[in-house]
Amino acid sequence: MNQSNIDALRTQAVPFRAHLIDGKLLPASDNGRMDVLSPIDGQLLTQVARGTAADMQAAIASARASFEDKRWAGQPPAARKKVLLKWADLIEANALELAVLGVRDNGTEIGMALKAEPGSAAGTIRYYAEALDKIYGEVAPTSSDILGLIHKEPVGVVGAIIPWNFPMMIGAWKLGPALAMGNSVVLKPAETASLSLMRMAELALEAGLPPGVLNAVTGEGAVVGETMGLSMDVDVLVFTGSGATGRRLMEYSARSNMKRVYLELGGKSPNIIFADAPDLSEAAKVAAAGIFRNAGQVCVAGSRLLIETCIHDEFVAEVTRVAEGMRVGDPLSLETAIGAVNSESQLKQNLGFVVTARAEGGEVVTGGERILQETGGYFMSPTIVTGVTPGSTLAQKEVFGPVLGVTPFASDDEAVLIANSTVYGLAGAVWTSSLARAHRMIRDVRTGVMHVNTYGGADNTVPLGGVGQSGNGHDKSMHAIEKYINLKTAWIKL
Ligand code: NAD
Repeated sequence: MNQSNIDALRTQAVPFRAHLIDGKLLPASDNGRMDVLSPIDGQLLTQVARGTAADMQAAIASARASFEDKRWAGQPPAARKKVLLKWADLIEANALELAVLGVRDNGTEIGMALKAEPGSAAGTIRYYAEALDKIYGEVAPTSSDILGLIHKEPVGVVGAIIPWNFPMMIGAWKLGPALAMGNSVVLKPAETASLSLMRMAELALEAGLPPGVLNAVTGEGAVVGETMGLSMDVDVLVFTGSGATGRRLMEYSARSNMKRVYLELGGKSPNIIFADAPDLSEAAKVAAAGIFRNAGQVCVAGSRLLIETCIHDEFVAEVTRVAEGMRVGDPLSLETAIGAVNSESQLKQNLGFVVTARAEGGEVVTGGERILQETGGYFMSPTIVTGVTPGSTLAQKEVFGPVLGVTPFASDDEAVLIANSTVYGLAGAVWTSSLARAHRMIRDVRTGVMHVNTYGGADNTVPLGGVGQSGNGHDKSMHAIEKYINLKTAWIKL
């Protein structure tokens, strides 16, 4: 990929984006539209349909009808596989357009977006396409006069609510297994990053997915998302986003049809650096990337840096050096290491955390400011705060921005105690040359993903899911399939 291919797309007009309902592109029922501002310059990029409750109900009805007449679920696995593989190919064939559109919408640096967005989404769809004819039912170990069968059936209509940080990647984590297992889906992208995911959904129909099997409605979470959550006709709700919204979805479920709700929420993940790390300069580079890429808008970001006391000062100096060398700015430049913050309100929230951290005794050793304001875009310098006490706001609350809090520790036990002192448990890392210490940390840190001598980068073969208030259920790997099937027992007297 070279810069001129990207530049050729950077100012292309982006047409109004309608809903995708029953295979048709439809405006909102009341013709309402929402402005989409680009975080790169704060200017109007395009408009999307401002969905109404009626739009969401129409999308759900379309999904339900497509499920009941078995136009997708009833197809032979080989036929479903062919469509999904074609879809993955189309995503790859359109990767550059999808990535640039996504970056103009959400601000992720293009180098990362190319890999993490269309690249990863195509890989995920392909993974589940290839898996779908390798999933068998079971025969139970019954007495000889009985045949006990366990069937794996699609659940019906799946509602998928997606955040803005990696819309295509996270969208594919839900759509891949849901569609592979024969479900029909209603998708609800985030207000501030719907364009690339809506286009990706459209490509599924081009690949041969029957109309109505995948519907997508844009609009406000409080309107279309709530309608989905309260629907009596959605069987399973899968969600990635904030804890506050996750809590609401559980309430919606309780108030309606008790639909299963799977939540992938936030984190405050500890990156634990011991003095015996195999390569401290590599650890510093990876620690900086692990919090600052995509301007910190990564659910598994290593936002708490726990450093063994004896190397604290030298390690802080090294991470600071790396952070100050990361180029912040134009997300469409391949040279950029840190792109834009997704929205002005998110930027304000990030800056507010820095003010609070200072007030609570933290020292800002680098960053902490809005920069490049003359561009009109939403940019923030990578920020490192030392002296963050375990109980303080910065140690406890997810910022979801480029802000790293540093806390020293004196022993393995203290590292574990601090690591486990939040309500979250999504990811973490330990840097050490000791095999025994690494395994003790894997065992003792309460989290869904633990890295050793690296941070991030896990592929489709392993699950991603949190413990505590980081959520329930898992995306990725064969374990994700469980969310999209019902088990049915057949007990047959012979
Ligand atoms: P958010 O909860 O504000 O929004 C997420 C989605 O929920 C959006 O599509 C939004 O429109 C919708 N929504 C909002 N209110 C709703 C309502 N009342 N009913 C139904 N839907 C509603 O979260 P966000 O700010 O877009 O995303 C950032 C959060 O996502 C962070 O906390 C981050 O850690 C988390 N995240 C988690 C993972 C993971 O895998 N665990 C991955 C990425 C992001």
